[in-house]
Amino acid sequence: VPHLKIEDLKVSIEDKEILKGLNLEIKGGEVHAIMGPNGTGKSTLSSAIMGHPKYEVTGGSITLDGEDVLEMAVDERARKGLFLAMQYPSEISGVTNADFLRSAINARMEEGKEISLMKFIREMDKKMKVLEMDEAFMHRYLNEGFSGGEKKRNEILQMSMLNPRIAIMDEIDSGLDIDALKIVSQGVNNMLSPELGVLVITHYQRLLNYIKPDFVHVMMQGRIVKSGGPELAEKLEAEGYDWIKKELGIVD
Ligand code: ADP
Ligand code: MG
Ligand code: MG
Repeated sequence: VPHLKIEDLKVSIEDKEILKGLNLEIKGGEVHAIMGPNGTGKSTLSSAIMGHPKYEVTGGSITLDGEDVLEMAVDERARKGLFLAMQYPSEISGVTNADFLRSAINARMEEGKEISLMKFIREMDKKMKVLEMDEAFMHRYLNEGFSGGEKKRNEILQMSMLNPRIAIMDEIDSGLDIDALKIVSQGVNNMLSPELGVLVITHYQRLLNYIKPDFVHVMMQGRIVKSGGPELAEKLEAEGYDWIKKELGIVD
């Protein structure tokens, strides 16, 4: 069962400290949600876990099943089963969705092994149906000209094809209308298993009506300042963040 452990993590961007000692533990079978105001460092956290070179880890640790993630190269992190569905997926011209996915799957397989074309197509067809995606998407260049909602569906398609052990979804709900939100959530819920730990990062409680978290964490000013169950998300939706700031004496 996967076990991601983040202890006292400190991360800087261009010498500015963004994460200031963050603690979080995610195990297989658990769904965690991080909520928090804009600019608190939620995306910084996901990028640091994945090893984005722009984010400098200045303190603390990240381990997956006891192995030091910070020592791993970016592709190794992916091979070990870490996956990030991004807030702003990039467009790659000249690489079709199908090509990209096949090479991503192959990169995660044992040295010298590849997924067979038949199996790949079969699985992709099945998963695209769940996400109500048109077949034509496979042959289009990665994210090029995709609408916001199409990009998000595509991120979830990648996730379901890659079978991660820890999946992080950064504001997968932003820019989705309610129908797309339901479809995307369904895609995620279909994947839930004891072999998968999930972290959803969101600004809005709405997503958590569809992807039900076991744990909700509030992030402010580069730290997790409060943790609880789903009721915490409801309270935030109803009352905003001010009561937490008051409670903790945070001034901004
Ligand atoms: P959130 O996802 O919670 O909205 P971010 O992690 O995106 O927050 O940003 C946290 C802080 O780091 C913000 O002050 C933001 O301006 C800054 N920041 C984020 N990414 C970069 C970057 N690539 N270059 C410079 N500053 C950045
Ligand atoms: Mg933001
Ligand atoms: Mg963000």
